[in-house]
Amino acid sequence: MAVNIYKDNQKRFDIAARILGVDRDIQNLFRTTRRELEVNFPVMMDNGQLRIFKSYRVQHTRSMGPSKGGIRYAEDIDINEIKGLAFLMTWKCALMKLPFGGAKGGVKVDPRKVSLSELERITRRYTKEMFSIFDPEKDVPAPDVGTNEQVMAWLYDTYSVLKGFEVPGVVTGKPIECNGIEGRTEATGRGVSILTREALQEHGIDLSKAKIAVQGFGNVGSVAAKLLASQGCKVVSVSDISAALYDSSGLDIEDIIKYAEGNKGLIAGYGRVQELSSPDQVLYLNVDALLPSAIENVIRADNVDRVQAKIIVEGANAPTTTEADVKLQERGVYVIPDILANTGGVTVSFFEWSQARDMYKWKKEEVNRRLEQDFMLPAYESVKGTAEEYGVDLRTAALILAIDTVQTKHKKTGNWT
Ligand code: NAD
Repeated sequence: MAVNIYKDNQKRFDIAARILGVDRDIQNLFRTTRRELEVNFPVMMDNGQLRIFKSYRVQHTRSMGPSKGGIRYAEDIDINEIKGLAFLMTWKCALMKLPFGGAKGGVKVDPRKVSLSELERITRRYTKEMFSIFDPEKDVPAPDVGTNEQVMAWLYDTYSVLKGFEVPGVVTGKPIECNGIEGRTEATGRGVSILTREALQEHGIDLSKAKIAVQGFGNVGSVAAKLLASQGCKVVSVSDISAALYDSSGLDIEDIIKYAEGNKGLIAGYGRVQELSSPDQVLYLNVDALLPSAIENVIRADNVDRVQAKIIVEGANAPTTTEADVKLQERGVYVIPDILANTGGVTVSFFEWSQARDMYKWKKEEVNRRLEQDFMLPAYESVKGTAEEYGVDLRTAALILAIDTVQTKHKKTGNWT
């Protein structure tokens, strides 16, 4: 049975909250999502027929600032997945000390199965349906699985047209030409690559000898693979929904990216290296670091015993279930959790949102430097320190820090009744 990522992450939250001694009322408050909007909307398809799309936006909390979180386009999403992802966003933002709460949205559509003009109409209609809740001060979307900067540009334009003036702060992950920020597209993968590098070095693994496997070759996975390969690591395998490629001496990531760009984003049929028997085989290779960077629940109780990596850096949200997590800990696998590992995207989204407020353009070097020096590395150090202090794993430590930030503010502001 599919694991409900909302419930699964509530369990993790409860463990961390108990260790911290969080007041029961506050614990109940932050276990719960604040707003859930579900809208079915019609879109005229290219063939002249009207099709109804189910869509969501969930705000987990706004108590730290506007709620922040991506928009996912996928055929199999449901409200629990969106709630779980919104829940994780709160803890990610709090861990990075960003002035945001958590949110997530999505449309039940496979973007590969509709035309570009249909995708634009779906995005514009979704934005119209969410017009009353999106707002630079209240709820700020961004890209996620199945969406990209083009989708964010349509969202930005639709919102601005409806408002009657340009509102660049309403969405992040926009193209540079549309008030986007340098470095945002690469930010999540960059953050994942930074922490992978740190973990390898701490484990005494020379980067030039490190063997890496990456599941997911979209925004997060392809960038993390490219940046690690550029530092000398051997990225021996990458996978996506269509295939898994393997070369024990290291893949030519730039070449695979180029190939995928001309192949509807897919790596199947690349042909220059071995293709593994199924995409999932990427998870079971004997590598130093595995970067699950595709979707949730890929490392589960039923397959965790086959995972051989020494280090797991979670590029994706919720790729490891709590049951699998326990087994990984027992085996001493070093897991850098999603709410720390993939925060590069929301951090640079914060830069983009700030840029939109004062219309001062940040330089790419500044974005990358601040991402690494002011956010990723300090957060990693804090999480490691907390893990040591409480004798817990990195995920629980990250949650302890994040929950403490949110509860401290909540205690000071009090509850308006
Ligand atoms: P994307 O749509 O760009 O890429 C997703 C990749 O996963 C594609 O290569 C796709 O083929 C692959 N994939 C999908 N289903 C798969 C399956 N069943 N098995 C193997 N591969 C599969 O999405 P993305 O933006 O790279 O996001 C990937 C993950 O990272 C998601 O969990 C997302 O929530 C998380 N994330 C993304 C960002 C961001 O800035 N884009 C930020 C934080 C977290």
